Amino acid sequence: MTPKKNRRTKIVATVGPASESADDLARLMRAGVDVFRLNFSHGTAHNHAKVASRIRKQAAIAGKHVGILADLQGPKIRVSNFRQGSIQLENGDRFRLDLTMGEDDGDKNGVGLNYAELCTSVFRGDTLLLDDGRIRLRVDDIEAAAVDCTVIVGGILSSRKGINRMGGGLAAPALTSKDIADIDSLTEVRPDFVAVSFVSNAEDIFQTRELLKQHDLKPAIIAKIERAEVVADEATLNGILAASFGIMVARGDLGVEVGDAELIGIQKDLISRARKMDRVVITATQMMESMISSSMPTRAEVFDVANAVLDGTDAVMLSAETAVGKYPVEVVAAMSDAAMGAERHPVARKSQHRLNKQFANAQEAIAMSAIYAANHYGNVRGIACLTESGTTPLLMSRLRSGLPIFALSHHSETLQRLSMCRGVIPLFFDASAFDQEDVEARAIEFLKDGGYLSSEDSILLTKGAVMGRPGSTNIMKILPVS
Ligand code: PGA
Ligand code: MN
Repeated sequence: MTPKKNRRTKIVATVGPASESADDLARLMRAGVDVFRLNFSHGTAHNHAKVASRIRKQAAIAGKHVGILADLQGPKIRVSNFRQGSIQLENGDRFRLDLTMGEDDGDKNGVGLNYAELCTSVFRGDTLLLDDGRIRLRVDDIEAAAVDCTVIVGGILSSRKGINRMGGGLAAPALTSKDIADIDSLTEVRPDFVAVSFVSNAEDIFQTRELLKQHDLKPAIIAKIERAEVVADEATLNGILAASFGIMVARGDLGVEVGDAELIGIQKDLISRARKMDRVVITATQMMESMISSSMPTRAEVFDVANAVLDGTDAVMLSAETAVGKYPVEVVAAMSDAAMGAERHPVARKSQHRLNKQFANAQEAIAMSAIYAANHYGNVRGIACLTESGTTPLLMSRLRSGLPIFALSHHSETLQRLSMCRGVIPLFFDASAFDQEDVEARAIEFLKDGGYLSSEDSILLTKGAVMGRPGSTNIMKILPVS
């Protein structure tokens, strides 16, 4: 049997009306989804809970560890409703953002807003960006409870569209009352990951973790990096990274605030910073946007996905493409092909192996050595990692390699989290069911039976001398499969 062809980069797909039936979810898993994202900006908590249980059921049928990410809405600032649903703004029109206006009273002269701090957060001459930057306003005058603007780039503006300030600075506290209510509802969803939107500092992450803990929930927390002021401040950014399991390069909101030209370098910096700090990273938004309505991606989109993969991202994310698009299965397949194409390039496989760094402990030393040995010894076809907490495979996957890291564990929490880590294949394997001296042979047999290895291969195996104790990995061996 030829070993299975594996994609290392993980795919996160947002669930929505186009993808939430049991059949849809099963098809998306087969197409290659590793993590499903439940977007709490849309839908009800009740529906998210129903979808989550469907995902668990289909994943169990497929025998795959598929993660669930609950993405909290956060304090996205939005205009209120227009009487007619939308208005047409022409260049040069005057337009007011007015805090005293009723929730549904917007018209072509102005609209209400859910952001009490507006008048102290903007300055004359600022550019305000509505609907992801499609509409631009210049701030002319700031009153006690309203801001007067001129339309610089007009267009159709409909109810509840987002508003950003160029350069950032429209900041409300990260957890809204809706987020706190949604966290209450997560006892039903029991997500593996929780994403916090518009994070401004590490405190937002601590607060979220604390609230989750009160409900006896311990998901891995993903900080969405989508504020210009966060990427502009290294200490804040590092604090957020240190506090989180990982980050999302949330290009939608971040790109509006910093501009796409600036975003190119920021994406590279965020990805390498996250990996250096042993954190995971998701690259998100408009990766294959045209496939919302087209059955194939543009070449530019293929290259955007490939670029994120070459930058070293753990995961690439689909939003509207799978939530409401016409081709949810096709877009996952297209993304998977693009990722695998990029992974064939040496840039994706060659690592510096932290050559200039001192390792923090035996576990890190073993993890780094294992990838070094595996990358430099052609006979090795994979790394089997007997793990409790998942830390060793996570560390291994911070280095570039072309080889699969098989994370063998009997802890479902560990396996579920590893669904987000590049190059890691989480597999249920209960080492405690075997005699100590038998475990290695059984692990190899298990991988061979699963079609991951063939008889001519060798494998690199890591484990702790005392099995069953987290953080104790201190043994590395190279073993022939037959
Ligand atoms: P969103 O976050 O889809 O929840 O807005 C991602 C982004 O801003 O890119
Ligand atoms: Mn966003």
